[in-house]
Amino acid sequence: MRIALYPGSFDPVTNGHMDILRQALALADKVIVAIGIHPGKAPLFSFDERVEMIHTCAQEAFGAEEAARIEVKSFSNLVIDFARENGARYLVRGLRDGTDLDYEMQMAGMNGTLAPEINTVFLPASPDVRHITATLVRQIAKMGGDTSAFVPRSVAQPLKLRTS
Ligand code: ADP
Repeated sequence: MRIALYPGSFDPVTNGHMDILRQALALADKVIVAIGIHPGKAPLFSFDERVEMIHTCAQEAFGAEEAARIEVKSFSNLVIDFARENGARYLVRGLRDGTDLDYEMQMAGMNGTLAPEINTVFLPASPDVRHITATLVRQIAKMGGDTSAFVPRSVAQPLKLRTS
């Protein structure tokens, strides 16, 4: 069974994350969405809220059968250690632009040295979502802007409520 780990903050999950998740599901039998927990960094949405949002969005976007191949877990250790613990041989990362590439190449190189048996897989952002970042989505929401073009439907409303 091909298990892929897709790590990130997902605070909140965006249309960009969903695009990568869709592509990852086409490559792996199971995709573990791994929410990184950083002590001392207060997220907008709690871990439990993010888990629920990702499951709901996956059901809505991909249907129940595909969504059943997604697991959502938290981790606070090294991503390669978490991948090993979960039997994941693939580390999925989305690429938006050259800035992502420069940073991701460093991480992939160092992770590859630490764990040669785990393969980093870069997936290109689709053109219609490549500009989306969760950081800007949070900023727009906090300033009362409309985020509905950037996040799944079931994220837009809780985001509005949380930031109003
Ligand atoms: P962000 O960078 O938006 O705050 P994360 O830190 O949660 O989001 O990113 C997790 C992973 O998702 C990274 O591999 C990142 O490159 C990818 N990603 C985030 N937004 C997009 C997007 N719009 N298109 C493609 N990949 C994305």
